[in-house]
Amino acid sequence: MDVRSILRRGVSYYPRLPAVVVGGREYTFEECWRRGLRCYNGLRSIGLLPGDRVGMLDDNTILGVDLYLACAIGNFVRVPLYWRNSVDRHLQMIGKSGCRVVLASGDAPPELDRARAENPFLKEVVVADGGYEKWLARQSEEEGHASISENDLCVIKFTGGTTGESKGIPNTHRQWISIGRDTLSFKPRIRTGDTMLHMAPLSHASAYYFLPAWAQGARQILGSGLEPAEIVTLMSRESVAHSFMPPTLLNMVANTDNASNHDWSALRSLAIGSAPVGINTLLKAEEVFGRRVLHQTYGTNEAVPLAGMGPEAWFAIVSGSEPMKAVGKPLPCADVEIWDEEGNVLPVGEVGEVVGKCDGQMDGYWMDPVETAKKVVNGWIKTGDLGRIDKNGYLYLTDRVGEMIISGGHNIYPGELEKIISGHPDVLEVCVFGIPDKKWGETPVAVCQVKRGSKATDRDIISLVAKEIGSYMKPSKVQLVFDSLPKSAVGKISRKLMREAFLEA
Ligand code: AMP
Repeated sequence: MDVRSILRRGVSYYPRLPAVVVGGREYTFEECWRRGLRCYNGLRSIGLLPGDRVGMLDDNTILGVDLYLACAIGNFVRVPLYWRNSVDRHLQMIGKSGCRVVLASGDAPPELDRARAENPFLKEVVVADGGYEKWLARQSEEEGHASISENDLCVIKFTGGTTGESKGIPNTHRQWISIGRDTLSFKPRIRTGDTMLHMAPLSHASAYYFLPAWAQGARQILGSGLEPAEIVTLMSRESVAHSFMPPTLLNMVANTDNASNHDWSALRSLAIGSAPVGINTLLKAEEVFGRRVLHQTYGTNEAVPLAGMGPEAWFAIVSGSEPMKAVGKPLPCADVEIWDEEGNVLPVGEVGEVVGKCDGQMDGYWMDPVETAKKVVNGWIKTGDLGRIDKNGYLYLTDRVGEMIISGGHNIYPGELEKIISGHPDVLEVCVFGIPDKKWGETPVAVCQVKRGSKATDRDIISLVAKEIGSYMKPSKVQLVFDSLPKSAVGKISRKLMREAFLEA
């Protein structure tokens, strides 16, 4: 099984159905395939061979689709760069993965030219400005016949790398196909002709949905740079049936003024994941879109998916569990354990590091045996998350390893505080981190984005925490802001960066 066979089969089943909508144009499966063949032949004429890495820098444009197909056809290895990264970070990823060609959309930073100067093995940076369509039109539509094994590399993703260098996460064809299959295994089936909306970048988690949606004959809209209100209008106008949204995006979309005024009967699945889902975000999404569409996925780029749940489990009332605070239950296709620092499995309810195994996990980091040895232990992926599994199987994350706050000898889990604070009706986003404290060693600080016009005070937040889990855990400082909290290039709030900014200020 390989990605090319799945894509090709989709084209043979649904040639004249719409496959991709981007930049106001609709492309059928056949049109996409022909563009993919041309892109593949163009890359081949530059000298690319199977196994060569190709960097991709765009923000949900047709170029990304062309390259996705071209790489699958030619057995090239796709290296998605993240649009919101700095140029230096792009250069680092291009160099580390040894890209021989980089394809970038016309609005890519001009400094990308430096890539060629810095990487002698890099043959070409193809910038898809006005000339790209002409370049594509000049290429042949000859089919690709490179032999592909399911264990050949298909993609090298990079870790977010908010601190230190990003690490390359290679996936074989088999692993990549498993990620898509398993991620959708507990969500409503995608039907032929369904519309899927990708508002999150295809360079990241949204890409997991592309192949399974293609295989089912879905019509996929690629969006970027839209305001939340425009997303709501688009979703309603296009009768979107499926979409993946990280919680920050879901939060903005669900809180759009007119979001509840639309008919959401066509919507069947909003897949949420990649960061903690605040209770308010969840409840607002339930109010606007309806509970039945909400599905959560948990995993890490190194092993995905590990856990998840649909609305029946997420909104269930279960004695001994708090499903709304959980990330899901370990999926049937994954193994999840909680380990202590020595790698012993901890009993039900105890907090330790979450480790997982699934078919979509990487074998190891790209050319990095030292980091691989820290991350992959006896075939298990150490997620770096601290968490616990309760007696009913719900998995809760309390923290990231190394971010636990020790205050006066007590362990305080920032993730636990964030869940509680996010339950305050005015809080839209929250980040909790520890800062040094003369008396207690460390003390928690909470930075909260509250709704505009909110009258909430820091005392309200502090007493909420004290009431819910005890006074010794309450944050000693609460900062309330109206703007959304700063995010990393992949849209996540980083406790480390928030902490540094707070201490600097
Ligand atoms: P990445 O490897 O960049 O996808 O980040 C993986 C990390 O994101 C995980 O280790 C978690 O800390 C976090 N994460 C992913 N999914 C969820 C989720 N559903 N709820 C809470 N945190 C999540």
